[in-house]
Amino acid sequence: MDERKARVCAAIDARRDVLVRFAEAVAAQPELGFFEFATARRFSRALAELGVAHTTGLARTGVKAVLAGGAPGPTVAVLGELDALPVRGHPQADPETGAAHACGHNAQLAMVLGVAHGLLASGVLDELAGRVALFAVPAEEYVQIERRLTLRREGAIEFLGGKAELLRLGAFDDVDLAMMTHNTTAPEERSFAVGGTNNGVAAKLVRFIGRAAHAGRAPHEGINALNAAHVALAAMHAQRETYRDADHVRVHPIITHGGDVVNAVPAEVRLEMFVRGASLEAIRDANRKVDRALRAGALAIGARVEVTTLPGYLPLRNDPLLLEVFRRNATLLVGPNEVTTAGHRGSSTDMGDLSQVLPAIHPYAGGAIGQGHGADYALADPERAIVNPAKAMALTIVDLLTDGAAEARRVLAAARPALTRAGYLQFMRDLLQTWQYHEPD
Ligand SMILES: [Zn+2]
Ligand SMILES: [Zn+2]
Repeated sequence: MDERKARVCAAIDARRDVLVRFAEAVAAQPELGFFEFATARRFSRALAELGVAHTTGLARTGVKAVLAGGAPGPTVAVLGELDALPVRGHPQADPETGAAHACGHNAQLAMVLGVAHGLLASGVLDELAGRVALFAVPAEEYVQIERRLTLRREGAIEFLGGKAELLRLGAFDDVDLAMMTHNTTAPEERSFAVGGTNNGVAAKLVRFIGRAAHAGRAPHEGINALNAAHVALAAMHAQRETYRDADHVRVHPIITHGGDVVNAVPAEVRLEMFVRGASLEAIRDANRKVDRALRAGALAIGARVEVTTLPGYLPLRNDPLLLEVFRRNATLLVGPNEVTTAGHRGSSTDMGDLSQVLPAIHPYAGGAIGQGHGADYALADPERAIVNPAKAMALTIVDLLTDGAAEARRVLAAARPALTRAGYLQFMRDLLQTWQYHEPD
């Protein structure tokens, strides 16, 4: 490791306890997406303590600071996500909202602060050509869809995910390259797992509308919306054999409203569901089939179905050159045996959206245990979960922005983003669709 990189690592090591305490404090006050006000304030205070000017309130709770190197050059963003998600039974769950940091986003925020410490306290920032955007971003978890749609109706947001919303607002317009590190609980992924792909996702809100009637005395006069949903769910399950393994399709519905009272035929039943796939084509194909299943439920029972399809997240593409810079630095820190290659994940992230419009990477760092999104999720090893990834990202920035940012310029010259920013917004707006179906009597 060269002398500058050693200084950056020493600066991060010196603040190790501060970073770990920060992550613990965030976990102790978990908040749901677009409502991470206390978490954002905590992040803002940490930046202020470093003497770093920053902007708050981006897409409601986002916090962004831009550190300028000694010479002009490209801007590299380091992202950390602010939100927790509802996990019933998690020991640190908020008693009111159920929110818990069962995805390790609290560690991500500490990593971003670690990068800031490393580059500032070492003085290395002044030796770089370019800028570093430190960015705490809202609402990665795609949850509470109905609540977010209320925010949308109120004009508070347009898109239901944080990074989409930030893209819409132009908060990434001055960013050339982006990276973040997510934690992993998979022991076989070791200290770091780099590369891989993620499913994209579309979300659906479904309402079956029937007719209430006395469930004991006159069910023949009702139209049972729960039965219509049941038929639709059965049809969706029957479709599973038509999905190709390579497309990694996941269709997973929940019932958010199953009826009002047990002694009346359910007149309204609501579902939320995700349709995931490894490519936009796979998502579109699965979505068409799911729509058929929903119509089948309504048709069989004589109910009406109203369906809203919402843009979710796009599949993740890791920029190969940027990834190699990260891999090199991760290897420098922990050795080649501790750096693995990630495969395909059936989950989705709005880093996928960002990765379609600019060169981005989303590697994983170990140190977490339990089930991701589960009640037993915990950050067990802060060294691997926070300190190592902070160092790996800081050293990646050093490589990118050295020698007039030659490496960053090489990445940018080779990058072929799939969508322009304007094209992305158009794509997202075109995805939003509402339709209803009712077989005429
Ligand atoms: Zn998550
Ligand atoms: Zn996550």
